Amino acid sequence: TAATGGTIEVKKSVCTHCSVGCTVIAEVQDGVWIGQEPGWDSPFNLGSHCAKGASVREHAHGERRLKYPMKKVGGEWQRISWEQAIDEIGDQMLKIREESGPDSVYWLGSAKHSNEQAYLFRKFAAYWGTNNVDHQARICHSTTVAGVANTWGYGAMTNSYNDIHNSRSIFIIGGNPAEAHPVSLQHVLKAKEQNNAPLIVCDPRFTRTAAHADEYVRFRPGSDVALVWGILWHIFENGWEDQEFLRTRVWGMDEIRTEVARWTPDEVERVTGVPESQVARVARTLANNRPGTLIWCMGGTQHTNGNNNTRAYCILQLALGNMGVAGGGTNIFRGHDNVQGATDLGVLADTLPGYYGLTAGAWAHWARVWGEDLDWLKGRFATMKGKDGKDKEMMGLSGITVSRWIDGVLEAKENIEQPDNTRAMVFWGHAPNSQTRLKEMKTAMEKLDLLVVVDPFPTVSAVMNDRTDGVYLLPASTQFETRGSVTASNRSLQWREQVVAPLFESLPDHIIMTKFAKKFGFADRMLRNIEMEDDETPSIESITREFNRGMWTIGYTGQSPERLKLHMENQHTFDKTTLRANGGPADGDFYGMPWPCWGTADMNHPGSANLYDQSLPVAEGGLPFRARFGVERDGDNLLADGSYPVGSEIQDGYPEFTMQMLIDLGWDGDLTPYERRMIEYVAGYIDARPETDTDLGEQSQTGPYPSDWAEQIGGVNWKTD
Ligand code: SF4
Repeated sequence: TAATGGTIEVKKSVCTHCSVGCTVIAEVQDGVWIGQEPGWDSPFNLGSHCAKGASVREHAHGERRLKYPMKKVGGEWQRISWEQAIDEIGDQMLKIREESGPDSVYWLGSAKHSNEQAYLFRKFAAYWGTNNVDHQARICHSTTVAGVANTWGYGAMTNSYNDIHNSRSIFIIGGNPAEAHPVSLQHVLKAKEQNNAPLIVCDPRFTRTAAHADEYVRFRPGSDVALVWGILWHIFENGWEDQEFLRTRVWGMDEIRTEVARWTPDEVERVTGVPESQVARVARTLANNRPGTLIWCMGGTQHTNGNNNTRAYCILQLALGNMGVAGGGTNIFRGHDNVQGATDLGVLADTLPGYYGLTAGAWAHWARVWGEDLDWLKGRFATMKGKDGKDKEMMGLSGITVSRWIDGVLEAKENIEQPDNTRAMVFWGHAPNSQTRLKEMKTAMEKLDLLVVVDPFPTVSAVMNDRTDGVYLLPASTQFETRGSVTASNRSLQWREQVVAPLFESLPDHIIMTKFAKKFGFADRMLRNIEMEDDETPSIESITREFNRGMWTIGYTGQSPERLKLHMENQHTFDKTTLRANGGPADGDFYGMPWPCWGTADMNHPGSANLYDQSLPVAEGGLPFRARFGVERDGDNLLADGSYPVGSEIQDGYPEFTMQMLIDLGWDGDLTPYERRMIEYVAGYIDARPETDTDLGEQSQTGPYPSDWAEQIGGVNWKTD
């Protein structure tokens, strides 16, 4: 649509591509989004966007947008109306529910929802009567949340992007912010520039982030704990640990010392592949440059021992005394723009909003906030006979997690009365490209009675199956076509203004949820405490206020819609006086409104840019920390809560899945070139990309492949085949 030359309005929103939370300034003329700029003054952006953020307007206007509801009939897609879609899908779901119970419909939610939509989605699932709800966080940082929550208390990034400017050293492990979170690297480079802070990057691959490093540490995948233990070995050996901090704040470090003593430099080199001298140098650099920040991403989490990795990172920061101080912290870069918020708001199989769990008390709390009769709510859920023959209320049991619904289809299909039998699947803002088991997922999709995809785009969820019938596509609006709050990786809530009206026939998620709730007959109950703008439009601000009333565990209680809007408005004009008068941060940079932000009587809590302030004595509320590693010892074996291979489990220096590969391949020293190169690649000996004609040397560290590498290894291109 061409604009006709009216006044240009400026709307402030937040980029939807990653969790840094950069401001987008959108220019709108006659209702048409005609241009965009980065939020020049935003402390998040540091004056820029990355290439991904610079494309959000094109993305939202994308020619591949799903324009109207569609249904597949006899292998052909047909356009249908919203009324027909909700009616047909709703009737089928109610029939499936009648036959197989509420758990037979799986509601897969999204890190792309706003906080308000994520909250309503979890509430919607509760009113439907299931905990079969999950989202992308399960795949990316669930090991972080477990590892970090067990050490600190809160399962989130401890400091802020801007706070990295205070760091005297930066240690990145399993993260590549130069590509995944590009603007965040600007914060890292600022610390490098103004503090001369050394940047240490540990990664099996030489990445674009590694190109900025003062020290690049190439280590074998899966050997993170051994590497961290190796660094700690030098720290303890030389007395570089922060002894006062450990004495006053930390319990359990003696167990770590005992464990670390086993990880002598030669053993660490054997397991990690990192030379002893480099491990020693890294330890010295970290000890000499405090406070330092430790940053990780999914290179650390997506392992069978991901929890152990994240615990080990925390322990390193404890030993150095880098916690609870500006410039320190464990700083986890999350993925999608609102993956932190969707996690906080409970779009998970095992929690309610605010990490309340599924206990009777937690349900009672939320039923009170919702104004709901707890017994009525309980009646919505199924019961299942346990092994002890007693009925178990599904309400209190964790639902099926993100990939497990496949088993619910493939294994339980014969008996449709099984309560864990998945018969209908809703992919609401979720494309499973990055998941494992795709082949089984395709089969499962084809066996379902009903498949519904709700998304702005016809994603892989819609097209990866060969169904001819029983699949619907419902067009959701993007976050630029509605308004609401979003939580960046650093726990900061920001408010998005609506930029344009929903494009084509798309609808915002909360309106689609309301349509379904009306069809299912519980809309009036679910929305009884929420103001309505019209019959099908719950007020976003009213939803914010509702979770403000209930999220006491993590402090989502002080970020009222009014404060969030004021903050967004003033943040970028640097009107600090107005901001402070209304409870903005007291000094330093502005950080959004990071939780915990408490809903005090005068609603002026500024939020908590950094967690676990060391200046508070433990007796006055400063937190003590657990250093105890999440493992139990049984003789010489460690019973790890992620099975980190130790002792006799480590053979020839190949830990974790690499070892399994060797076993599978019948490790007899007679591998094909392809097999050997695969192992060497996975083990981190060689780079991923064929770049030069140089011959591949034995255990090359530089990673060249010959140009005809695919032919040489038997014509198999393992990047595409
Ligand atoms: Fe968007 Fe992330 Fe790039 Fe910022 S760094 S512009 S939030 S993709």
